[in-house]
Amino acid sequence: MTKAIYPGSFDPITYGHLDIIERATTIFDEVIVAVTQNLTKTPVFTIEERLNHISESTKDYDRVKVGCFSGLLVDFARQENATVVIRGLRAVSDFEYELQMALMNRRLREEIVTVFLMPNEKFTYLNSSIVREIAGHGGDISNFVPSMVDEQLKIKFKIT
Ligand code: ADP
Repeated sequence: MTKAIYPGSFDPITYGHLDIIERATTIFDEVIVAVTQNLTKTPVFTIEERLNHISESTKDYDRVKVGCFSGLLVDFARQENATVVIRGLRAVSDFEYELQMALMNRRLREEIVTVFLMPNEKFTYLNSSIVREIAGHGGDISNFVPSMVDEQLKIKFKIT
């Protein structure tokens, strides 16, 4: 059985993330979507809120599990008995950072294999920070995030 971890901030989860998760379920037996605290970013949603959004948005996928971790990804992978890490690649701009992370994780634990998946092209310009930005200014983000996240962003930003 091949277990894969899809780590990220997911602040919030978008249709781009869900596209990657769906593709990953066609390859791996189990996909653990793992929320991590990115120390360089101030989150809008708490870890618990993000876990809740992910669980709700992936409830129809039997192979998807949801988790969180605060230390090194390689340690979490060991704890979960997983050797595959999934990351999304949207554009060349993602590549440099992702290559560094993949090679460093392999250096830290040799058996870790990072697999990059590309989303449908309609999600290549989408990320969580642009969603937060648009939502914060009262813009329509219903085409980019599940309805539960849309509603909760409106509550966070006090938009009626
Ligand atoms: P992180 O802080 O780890 O980058 P994110 O939640 O921003 O967390 O992203 C998690 C992963 O999902 C990254 O590999 C990122 O490239 C990927 N990702 C984010 N948005 C999209 C998208 N629209 N399409 C495909 N992959 C995406």
